[in-house]
Amino acid sequence: MIPVNVPRLIGREKEYLIECIETGWISSEGPFVTRFENEFSTYIGRKNGIAVANGSAALDVAVRAMNLEKGSEVIVPTFTIISPVQSLVKEGLIPVLVDVDPETFNMDVSAIEDKITDKTAAILVVHIYGFPVDMDPVIEMASKYELRIIEDAAEMHGQEYKGRKCGSFGDISVFSFYPNKHITTGEGGMILTDDDDLAERCRQLKNLCFIPARRFVHEEFGWNYRMTNLQAALGVAQLEQIDSVIKRKREIGNRYSQNLKGISRVKLPAVKNSYAQNIYWVYALVAESEELCDHIQSELKKHKIGTRPFFWCMHEQPVFQKMGFFKNESYPHAEKIARNGFYIPAGLGISDAEIDIVSEKIREIITNG
Ligand SMILES: *Cc1c(COP(=O)(O)O)cnc(C)c1O
Repeated sequence: MIPVNVPRLIGREKEYLIECIETGWISSEGPFVTRFENEFSTYIGRKNGIAVANGSAALDVAVRAMNLEKGSEVIVPTFTIISPVQSLVKEGLIPVLVDVDPETFNMDVSAIEDKITDKTAAILVVHIYGFPVDMDPVIEMASKYELRIIEDAAEMHGQEYKGRKCGSFGDISVFSFYPNKHITTGEGGMILTDDDDLAERCRQLKNLCFIPARRFVHEEFGWNYRMTNLQAALGVAQLEQIDSVIKRKREIGNRYSQNLKGISRVKLPAVKNSYAQNIYWVYALVAESEELCDHIQSELKKHKIGTRPFFWCMHEQPVFQKMGFFKNESYPHAEKIARNGFYIPAGLGISDAEIDIVSEKIREIITNG
């Protein structure tokens, strides 16, 4: 069996977890939490880090903390995981979608300006699969129209856009530490911001909005989205290995690209573009048809090789359609990759031999039709 993702826990994870158990610090009160917040925010180059239970929780808190006026519009890609868009809708904001750039799977930044109205309050960028969003035009739009930037960097630990780290662009930025991300805490997330007031607001919101004056008195609702010391212990150990993680991720991607070079009917991901080098959060393939995409995945499954289909577009999500969003909207590039795209095993736990087996099988499937 070659699963789509196997995490790699080869540093001091065990040592730090034992420390938690021996000291009894297993809740969010333990010392690893602050240490992880400090070390991760320093690594990305931001002043404040607020650790939370997972990446989706980070988005809930970040969006609420931005305090955008209810009913205002936020520009987001239609091709994304649902988390950022559901966070907007739950806060009474209106997501306004843009199509993807089929080369990077990221939002087509040239489509943003046409979507800006006098109700637009922010652009929520989501870096997808391996390349960052082309940030310069986003920053330019944001400054020209006085919009905030919310940055979902959940797939981009250590990735850089023109030499600057992803997660350092938003007024507020979020990460996830799910086991398929570059560094993992099992479940976990982090909010980053340079704004101290925003950071304090996030700390309140993730901790049930306890008020300092009198514990158990509340003026509003928050969430219990705290990260535990156990999770943070893993995070500290994982962060120590980030350089080798990024190196290995790129080796995995390059090995697949080398193995699959020249293959027909399936498009390989780019190695680099004008502003970044692929970090291969996933190794993403796009088949020439939906049938071929399904066929390759079911054949690989027969050989016990795991795959995942691409994200499904936001404008085609039943949950948003039922709420009356995105009626009659169409984004052809996103619709096509959502149907024809899939990704193959490329987690940090994969061996070179396994990469070669998966590559060989894909070649066989394509050759045999
Ligand atoms: C993984 C991911 C999330 C959600 O993170 P969880 O920790 O799984 O809740 C959000 N946004 C993007 C882009 C992601 O890839």
